[in-house]
Amino acid sequence: MSERESMTDVNRRCTRCGGAVTRQFVRVFGASNRVHGCLDCLTRQRLADGEAAERAAADRAGSDWR
Ligand SMILES: [Zn+2]
Repeated sequence: MSERESMTDVNRRCTRCGGAVTRQFVRVFGASNRVHGCLDCLTRQRLADGEAAERAAADRAGSDWR
């Protein structure tokens, strides 16, 4: 059960909650080598919607973030 990919990605973190994420996770759900959400702070559905790729996504609902 030693997956080395999880050990080499310790410096990649979710900018929303600070949780550690894998490089693959950032590539799939993030943008510009960053991810603004992970399975700890977003649901799978919201990740699939691309929320983790947009920093302002959290404020999108009901407010004008510009
Ligand atoms: Zn998170």
